[in-house]
Amino acid sequence: IGDGGLVVVSNRQPYSHTYDGDDIAVEVHAGGLTAGLDPVMQAVGGTWIAWGDGDADREVVDENDCVAAPPEDPGYTLRRIWLSDEEVDDYYYGFSNQVLWPICHSALTRVNEWQSYWERYRTVNERFVEAVEDHAEAGDIVWFQDYHFALAPAIARERVDDETLLMQFWHIPWPAWDTFRGCPHGEAILEGLLGNDLLAFHVARYRENFLACVEAAVDDAVVDHETGTVSYDGRTTQVTEFPMGVQADEIAERAASEEAAAFWDEFRAEYDLADTVAVGVDRLDYSKGIPERLRALEQFWERNPEWRGELTYVENGSESRSQIRAYQDIQARIEEGVERVNDRFGTDDWTPVVSFRDYISKEALAGLYRNSDLALISPIRDGMNLVAQEYVAAQVDDDGVLVLSDQAGAGSLLDAAVMVKPQDTCAFTDAIEEALTMPEAERRARMRHLRRQVTENDLAAWTALNLKAAMALRDASGSGA
Ligand code: UDP
Repeated sequence: IGDGGLVVVSNRQPYSHTYDGDDIAVEVHAGGLTAGLDPVMQAVGGTWIAWGDGDADREVVDENDCVAAPPEDPGYTLRRIWLSDEEVDDYYYGFSNQVLWPICHSALTRVNEWQSYWERYRTVNERFVEAVEDHAEAGDIVWFQDYHFALAPAIARERVDDETLLMQFWHIPWPAWDTFRGCPHGEAILEGLLGNDLLAFHVARYRENFLACVEAAVDDAVVDHETGTVSYDGRTTQVTEFPMGVQADEIAERAASEEAAAFWDEFRAEYDLADTVAVGVDRLDYSKGIPERLRALEQFWERNPEWRGELTYVENGSESRSQIRAYQDIQARIEEGVERVNDRFGTDDWTPVVSFRDYISKEALAGLYRNSDLALISPIRDGMNLVAQEYVAAQVDDDGVLVLSDQAGAGSLLDAAVMVKPQDTCAFTDAIEEALTMPEAERRARMRHLRRQVTENDLAAWTALNLKAAMALRDASGSGA
């Protein structure tokens, strides 16, 4: 990245240290973002600032709270930030996940605000900026990740060198103004983000929504929709879209691995799956449209009795944010939905919906994707949805059909998917029928097209787009400001 260094700021860390009896073990965080940025950091070096959430994290850091990463072959510095239980409750479970997450997913009825949520969101953003000050030098690029750090850029702009470039990727949707205007402290959130020199979203829709919100809420901001720039407070923010991808080649390799095949053989036998298998892989989040998917399946089997006993839906859901009431509610609702469908149609020989909550390895997941005849991915709102791309990347036989919600960012990219509106139960049922009866030639043509899209726009391509845009801005202005 030219002459400067790179400083990444994210909530989750790429590696955590945890006690395993008296020993300390290293855990690699499974998320797509950390998996994707880690090789970049290894290649360019620099500092990654993140919350130290492992119970043995403090044992291995130096006096500056830093540890070399990756642990077995160090290439960069991991700087850990310590958060108290109250801070985690208020900054993470509070403002991040009960205000910004529901607002940005247009789920206004799920918003819960509390004074301490906002206060600690701000103080934790300040703490991360203090760490940025320790590590960022003139000419460096500081890259904030996601909705946990909406205030940090403007705070950092005041405190770091003018020649330090600040950028952010917002991984979740940005809602229309008519929704965002309900956001507590919305104006401060917008002003915080305008501290960035470069701000990127997955798709054009979110960028346009953001610009409209700035225009409506931030006095004195001048928005140029043509160029995607905002002039405010004597500075300019370039707002753009870079759709995030997955590590397509690695996923294809895993899908073709022996571990993937072994997992599948065992899994298929254990659950006695029908000949045709549909799959869904989600965090159990109200944004993922899982109850809606179960309703469509129920209607599908009601309408098509000949498919009873012939199709199994496999739901791999991982528990998430369970301290929050809305997540307890959605988990219960999903369990009820699974029971309802299985009670109604299940027989001694056939379970219509197989729902499992186990964590499975990346190889096993790739095996599940590869061997499933269709994927049902139906978020009501989703910034991108990487699972949709992972399913495509794993179709090494150029087979399989992707049924995808047009409400996900991925729906704007993967144009050969069978598109659904998850809450239109009739149309969703039609789409399942279409996917199951699609002629082989069409199925393969669509999947080949999708695989090309996912391979060309993979995670490395996304990282390069972001960093090249940042370097171009830095080099054009001669400064970050
Ligand atoms: N994932 C996983 N195990 C699970 C569920 C999800 O490893 O049980 C991974 C999945 O492979 C994907 C990521 O978590 O890489 C989910 O990303 P996505 O954008 O689809 O949704 P998010 O959870 O970020 O809202």
